[in-house]
Amino acid sequence: MSLRIDPKGLPEEGLHIEGRLAPAVFGLQPEDEVRAVSHLEYDLNVTSDEDGLIVQGRIAATFDLACGRCAERFQLRMDLPGYGLDVPFENAGAIDLTSWLREDMLLALPTFPRCEMGNVTPRECPAEGRFAPATENVRDAPQEEDGEVWKALDQLDNLKSN
Ligand SMILES: [Zn+2]
Repeated sequence: MSLRIDPKGLPEEGLHIEGRLAPAVFGLQPEDEVRAVSHLEYDLNVTSDEDGLIVQGRIAATFDLACGRCAERFQLRMDLPGYGLDVPFENAGAIDLTSWLREDMLLALPTFPRCEMGNVTPRECPAEGRFAPATENVRDAPQEEDGEVWKALDQLDNLKSN
């Protein structure tokens, strides 16, 4: 289903659009920290006033993220049931909502992802408390393990800069 909305063809009571866009819509690359693992689902009502389109409803998608603490990957289901968007009219043409939905969904992702946020397979972060100043925990967090994480991150950086 097309997400191109022609304001001139919009019914008085608004237009209901429902469907899903392939994960490729997010434009994420394999080397990106964030991966989309589901379609972008939308269930929206579109109306307009003299300034632009008014979009209200729900968008949802599932992502695969890297935990900022333990560097392990986890899945996060993003469900925005109270989603709202105003798109100003810039010319008389039809408006494609695709890029707006994509951007808003990506912006809603956590800036500092932690694997305990994962709601697909709930888990505790294995690195939880590792950086706490408690001396008791030092024995439980071997240095090598930390080293491995940083080495992996370095490799990631190298991949990116190449
Ligand atoms: Zn974690």
